[in-house]
Amino acid sequence: MGDFSLALNEDQLQIQKWVHEFAERTIRPAAAEWDEREETPWPIIQEAAKIGLYGWESMAQFFADPTGLTMGIVNEELFWGDAGIALAILGTGLGVAGIMGNGTPEQIMTWIPQCFGTPDDVKLAAFCVTEPGAGSDVSSLRTRAKKDGDDWVLNGTKCFITNGDVADVYTTLVTVEPGSGPAGVRLLLIDGRESPGVSVTGRERKMGLRGSTIVTLSFDDVEVPAGNMIGGERGFPALMAMFDFARPNVAAQGVGLATAAMEYALGYTLERRAFGRPVYEFQGVSFMVADMAIRIEAARELVYAAAAEIDRGGPRAGELAAMAKTFCTDTAMAVATDAVQCLGGHGYLADHPVERMMRDAKVLQIYEGTNQIQRVILSRILAARVKNGSVKGAVR
Ligand SMILES: Cc1cc2nc3c(=O)[nH]c(=O)nc-3n(C[C@H](O)[C@H](O)[C@H](O)COP(=O)(O)OP(=O)(O)OC[C@H]3O[C@@H](n4cnc5c(N)ncnc54)[C@H](O)[C@@H]3O)c2cc1C
Repeated sequence: MGDFSLALNEDQLQIQKWVHEFAERTIRPAAAEWDEREETPWPIIQEAAKIGLYGWESMAQFFADPTGLTMGIVNEELFWGDAGIALAILGTGLGVAGIMGNGTPEQIMTWIPQCFGTPDDVKLAAFCVTEPGAGSDVSSLRTRAKKDGDDWVLNGTKCFITNGDVADVYTTLVTVEPGSGPAGVRLLLIDGRESPGVSVTGRERKMGLRGSTIVTLSFDDVEVPAGNMIGGERGFPALMAMFDFARPNVAAQGVGLATAAMEYALGYTLERRAFGRPVYEFQGVSFMVADMAIRIEAARELVYAAAAEIDRGGPRAGELAAMAKTFCTDTAMAVATDAVQCLGGHGYLADHPVERMMRDAKVLQIYEGTNQIQRVILSRILAARVKNGSVKGAVR
């Protein structure tokens, strides 16, 4: 019988080291500045493009890992650096995943290079799903695509769109028939902010993730060629598959952020003295850190399990994705909150990164399907399995 192992292979370790070094050298020192500026961190994205970390070739390499773990590793390391800047870099991946997973070879060859641009002329892509009246209940969307000869004509509003003010490609969810639910859902590619009828109508201020932007986009009679539809009439299943793929990555983001918060709390409490000794020597403090380590370890292994199951198209892909997203992002919130606690009043000051990390962690429980929605998905899967009589108990 072979040895059980969750150890990363040589290629994965190399990528992990490379991304970690970029996060440490380039992202971390810039995190406070971009959190303050609340703008797209172009110089950092350009630097990532220059070393090949942001670009189509590296993305293809990450996707190609036959174990499915590399995208998670990259997400973890970048979010260890800083969540806001990391999202600005990784936001393109969401739009690209839709094209990769559902596009024809010709669409993939044409559109994906456009999403990244070149190191000298960097481009971004955005993934436009959420609407003012359709967040969790995504199939109630109202952005409508109407056929007009060979083209589609789009009208509607998208909100909370990461990188929406700076992206050149929008992978956009529309309906061909409002009120028709999942059956009417389609994915369309929109070419750039310069397309007539596309406008940025709002730029939100937010609690955290301020090294990336979110905006409201309006589509007013935007003409889109018929060839820009990806996945044909399978828009809704394609979207669900994208969510399954993306959720372990968000889970990994939580692991990276939690690790950064734990490391900071550990270092600080070993130094900070009260009552004549380092505060780490008080069990009330050191046990908080020990609990962080336990949660993080369990979280990371759940990310790997989910990513591997999705990559091999296993039967538990949906449930493991939902479990990982929920557990890891709840872990990030809990760990960041306890890290602030470990620093006492100092943790509440912007002088220490745990203040920013706690603000950043919150959104992980909200985007890519709220953690309530993950529990809805999971509880349905569990109940269906028992009803089908396919298992004795609930989970296996
Ligand atoms: C920083 C940030 C970046 C984002 N980036 C993007 C992006 O790039 N592209 C994009 O399309 N969207 C993006 N979003 C939007 C995000 O995905 C949505 O906010 C999220 O899906 C929740 O939708 P909602 O805000 O409309 O909440 P609602 O759906 O209004 O939910 C409100 C509350 O009700 C709960 N709830 C709703 N339905 C149920 C149910 N059936 N059972 C139990 N509880 C329920 C929710 O969990 C939540 O607590 C982003 C959001 C943020 C904050």
